[in-house]
Amino acid sequence: MTKEFIQSIKGTQDILPDQSQRWQALETTIRNTMDTYGYREIRTPTFERTELFARGVGQETDIVSKEMYSWTDQSGENLTLKPELTAPVVRSFIQNNLGGQSTINKLYYIDALFRRERPQKGRYRQFHQFGIESFGSEFPEMDAEVIALAMSVFNDIGLTNLTLKLNSIGSPECRSDFRNALRDFLKPHFNDLSETSQKRFENNPLRVLDTKAPYEIEILKDAPNISDSWTGEDKAHFEEVCSLLDAMRIQYTIESNLVRGLDYYTRTTFEITSTALGAQNAICGGGRYDGLVETLGGKPTPGIGFAAGMERILLALGDDDSSGNSTQVYIIGLGDEARPSVAKLAEDLRQNNIRTNFDPLRRSIKAQMREANKSGATIAVIIGDKELASGQAEIKDLKTGDQEPVKIKALVDHINSLTL
Ligand code: ATP
Ligand code: MG
Repeated sequence: MTKEFIQSIKGTQDILPDQSQRWQALETTIRNTMDTYGYREIRTPTFERTELFARGVGQETDIVSKEMYSWTDQSGENLTLKPELTAPVVRSFIQNNLGGQSTINKLYYIDALFRRERPQKGRYRQFHQFGIESFGSEFPEMDAEVIALAMSVFNDIGLTNLTLKLNSIGSPECRSDFRNALRDFLKPHFNDLSETSQKRFENNPLRVLDTKAPYEIEILKDAPNISDSWTGEDKAHFEEVCSLLDAMRIQYTIESNLVRGLDYYTRTTFEITSTALGAQNAICGGGRYDGLVETLGGKPTPGIGFAAGMERILLALGDDDSSGNSTQVYIIGLGDEARPSVAKLAEDLRQNNIRTNFDPLRRSIKAQMREANKSGATIAVIIGDKELASGQAEIKDLKTGDQEPVKIKALVDHINSLTL
């Protein structure tokens, strides 16, 4: 009787060998770019105390209010699979006193995250992000560097048709002013708002601006603009970020509704979207969080970062069938006597970094020749009883079909001298 099959969990995906090459290429691009910009990798644990995310991401966010995988372990601790990386990185920054060791800390990560969302294209329950957190500078040149770095990764990986949306949500004082202005504006429209927006009106009116509902977007057209509430310093900061991006020839659009509701977010916010994606078109979100380190119990330290969704980047890039480097040499072994010679030759070639394969099924020469051609190998080496007796193997060029004998002892040197 066949056993019942156990499926993977909804919203999780296997990355199969014909896809993993694209992941590796993306990861290599990320690592090279991070290196060029002076960012170093940080790796944090897969789970943390639930409290870290409640405080660091915010109780009222979608992530914390409904998307976390949390549980209580045997000793009663409340734990959560990480749904984002900023809070863990800030925790590690504080805990390991990185700020005490160096005034500027430029950190990056590539990691898997967990959110209990409704799975759909571009939205999964386990997914991957790369991102950075840069600690120590409050100045616009750091904002501009962080944005340039994100754009550089996308450019190097070949993603075009991107839109960079930029805004500033000012300082906390600016936001309390804006919150009042927004409430005053929304009050007469209160009954026309969705239930979600009505709730946000009470708790966090800035998040009403996040709405995707067309009739609410219509109402918001005449809403006050956060730039009207900027302090002089907020304005100067934003203008400097813009002029640095101009100097670097990075194009952006200013989007005054791009806000974040939480108080430790300050000034610069940005989002990068791709026209190659449908509903889930955001590939990167970032911003400044000068109040976060303090919120999580550290010394006041300015910071800015972003996170980019890797599945969405690969979706936006579209399919290509780069399934990896193919075999270079295929060894065809015939008969029991040849087996040690085949094994030894395969090992010697592999030790010389030549991608080598052979048939582990002891099949006929015809079947092995078919595998050799399918493998993409440049040459096949044939070793059978006859070859063992003469001390010479046959090398077949799989493109031209030409065949020549080569001394078995000299095979490695000979193959090494070929361009495969
Ligand atoms: P969205 O509005 O699409 O839910 P978000 O605001 O939750 O995005 P962030 O928390 O800022 O997204 O994460 C940064 C990036 O991570 C997103 O722009 C997106 O590319 C990616 N991302 C977020 N959630 C998922 C998910 N469930 N599956 C795949 N990618 C995701
Ligand atoms: Mg989300």
